[in-house]
Amino acid sequence: MYRLELDRTMCISCGNCIDSCPDLFEFADDGISSIKGVEISDIQALELEDPSCSEKAAGNCPVMCIKLYRDGEEVL
Ligand code: SF4
Repeated sequence: MYRLELDRTMCISCGNCIDSCPDLFEFADDGISSIKGVEISDIQALELEDPSCSEKAAGNCPVMCIKLYRDGEEVL
């Protein structure tokens, strides 16, 4: 099981995560990236069976505010 986390307080709205993983990320009304389908808050989290494109998004975030964990261990 994977856990995707986004620290929205660090996001600089560059759009890389949305370009590389539009299935999971979008800009919220406040102009900050958010994980689709997750309530807006400073830290968002989503459990995933399949990490899908989230690894790419985490790797492309210039401020490293996207984290991916597998079984509690940080992957990215
Ligand atoms: S890649 Fe990182 S800094 Fe850029 S919009 Fe996504 S979360 Fe924000």
